[in-house]
Amino acid sequence: QIPGDGRAGANSRALFNAAQFVIPGGVNSPVRAFKAVGGDPPFIRAARGPYLLTEDGVTLVDYVGTWGPAILGHAHPEVVDAVCRAARDGLSFGACTAGEVEFAELLCRLVPALKGGMVRLVSSGTEATMSALRLARGFTGRSKIVKVDGGYHGHADFLLVAAGSGAATLGIPGSEGVPAATVADTLTVPFNSAAAVEQVLEQHRGQVAAVIVEPVPGNMGCVPPRPGYLQELRDLCTREGVVLVFDEVMTGFRVALGGAGQRYGVIPDLVCLGKIVGGGMPVGAYGGRRDIMQHVAPLGPVYQAGTLSGNPVAVAAGLATLQILARDDPYAALEATSAALAAGLSARAAKAGVPVVMNRVGAMFTGFFRAGEVHDYDDAKASDLGAFAEFHREMLTCGVYLAPSQFEASFVSLAHDAAAIDHTLSAAEAAFAAVARR
Ligand code: PMP
Repeated sequence: QIPGDGRAGANSRALFNAAQFVIPGGVNSPVRAFKAVGGDPPFIRAARGPYLLTEDGVTLVDYVGTWGPAILGHAHPEVVDAVCRAARDGLSFGACTAGEVEFAELLCRLVPALKGGMVRLVSSGTEATMSALRLARGFTGRSKIVKVDGGYHGHADFLLVAAGSGAATLGIPGSEGVPAATVADTLTVPFNSAAAVEQVLEQHRGQVAAVIVEPVPGNMGCVPPRPGYLQELRDLCTREGVVLVFDEVMTGFRVALGGAGQRYGVIPDLVCLGKIVGGGMPVGAYGGRRDIMQHVAPLGPVYQAGTLSGNPVAVAAGLATLQILARDDPYAALEATSAALAAGLSARAAKAGVPVVMNRVGAMFTGFFRAGEVHDYDDAKASDLGAFAEFHREMLTCGVYLAPSQFEASFVSLAHDAAAIDHTLSAAEAAFAAVARR
């Protein structure tokens, strides 16, 4: 299992050529495209632990972790067993199951915002945020939404404004096909400025239904909240009768067992979950205050539904994953591995004389190719994207698979052992040297 040159070989290139003919851009999600870094994407045949195996027969150390869910490493045997058992009993019933009750109870026990509240399962992060904001609008009778520049909350029409992730990477932070009227009620503010939120709430007093924020943004790259920022948002929303929504699709069960809400001790009114809660299967969830959740159909007048919501196979994967995390409480170990990796990367960048700002919260991190700190999207955008692209290419050549964009977070899993980390650091030494030679 020695990682090798992961650049698309003959098999991946042939597949990508075929893909481009029948799938837009050859990818089923734009973040998978290599537009920002050049070259063709390697196709993945299998994944185990911290490694991917490409269709060219090459092993890679993986820091995409299927964009966050793979916190246990790929194909964890207990999770795979749970999925196989569930699949043999039937793939979907569209009816009530014991598993979804157990899953909801576990979520309400582990996630602070859900304690004493309720949760509804959906099938993606996009659905979770879209549904939570519809609920916030229904609950308050107000229509405006405040979001952060460079924040990404899925691809619902009204949230494709100043959007991060793939939209940032491709330079299309808004989207064609979204009518102006649809985004007229979406207001944006820079991250990490409570003053900006206060100003918007005062300007539109009595009209703002919700403030939605990734408590640790990962979609402009990883940006930690300034001390006190999240609590200030909490206080402002309470004062103005605005529903505070934490989009913890990425941070939930990632930065702590109870997510960012637990890590920073700030409880939103509603929380959105995805990624890790599905253990690699399509699961999202939204929930929170009981008095708000009672407005969701069939209890209340806010409609939201899904043929495959609470799908038994997906729930089995999510339940098994969360049970392992709750049982083993691996967050101290994960923190140690991630800290060592980030420090090792910083040291190698410094040694090569390449300016890199290392932002990390728990097992998510981004090295921004710039000097000076990164506290918001404007700071992130001032990175040297050419240097990032060079670094990415060189890391891939040396057997390390990173998200093909500066505006994404990297994820460490419990399966990233000393061998994987060591390999990554020696690859980084070569990659930073290549950047320095540019
Ligand atoms: N919110 C956040 C914070 C995310 O990171 C993402 C996905 N990267 C989403 C929402 C959307 O989730 P999905 O892709 O499952 O629709």
